[in-house]
Amino acid sequence: MDNFIRETIVDVVGGYRGRTAYRTPLVGFAAASDQGFAGLRDVVGPGHLIPHDLLPGARTVVAFFVPFDSELVCLQREDSYVSRAWAEAYIETNRLIESVCGALGDALAEKGIMAAWQQPTHNFDPVELVSIWSHKHVAYLCGLGSFGRHRMLITRAGCAGRLGSLVTDAALPEETLAPHKRTADPTGEICLTWRGGPCDACIRRCPSGALTTDGFDRQRCYRYLLEVNDHFPDLGLCHVCGKCATGPCALSIPSVE
Ligand code: SF4
Ligand code: SF4
Repeated sequence: MDNFIRETIVDVVGGYRGRTAYRTPLVGFAAASDQGFAGLRDVVGPGHLIPHDLLPGARTVVAFFVPFDSELVCLQREDSYVSRAWAEAYIETNRLIESVCGALGDALAEKGIMAAWQQPTHNFDPVELVSIWSHKHVAYLCGLGSFGRHRMLITRAGCAGRLGSLVTDAALPEETLAPHKRTADPTGEICLTWRGGPCDACIRRCPSGALTTDGFDRQRCYRYLLEVNDHFPDLGLCHVCGKCATGPCALSIPSVE
């Protein structure tokens, strides 16, 4: 079943024909009963859902990362502002993630398996900016990577891309589930700074000052995303920046020099 789920996700992304180009998605799994999900109420916020809130009878959580191609990352690196192509990719990839969830949900339903999911974005409290289903934390629990200084998840395909997740009542073999594969790096960390650095490229690239050596100012970052949204009025809702996702961890696990 894990291969069926993985192949379905890879096929939907591979068959996508739009403006944005993608590399092969990564897929990870966790037991719905993993105590890490309940722990997200402390880590993310008290309103964070657990898998059983999405699907009573949930047994497995599936997370996937859809990585952008290197050309898009270069465009975003070179643009003095947020690249228009990057903003378009944000919108397009959110739609793709909805398609992946829909296609996988249908394919599982044909096998008598139920699935439920949350939309790819804007599932957060608009005042506190705290998510009720954080795909990046879910993806961490599914073993897809570890967090960088920029607070994004860095996978073995980097951090430039977008995440989706589903909950199913399919039971998967124990050996396919995190925590056995919770991090992609044997040290447990992928971010260069957390591995002894130096790096901090994400801080240098942040145009708003939200990301500093002192921490991350969520409200300041979000104000900048709103500015970007206003900058591209013809694109539709694009609260996006991601300049911090174009450093050495954008496309792969960065090497320590
Ligand atoms: S840019 Fe450097 S410091 Fe920032 S998250 Fe990536 S590896 Fe870590
Ligand atoms: S998304 Fe943009 S504004 Fe927010 S922390 Fe990253 S670089 Fe800074």
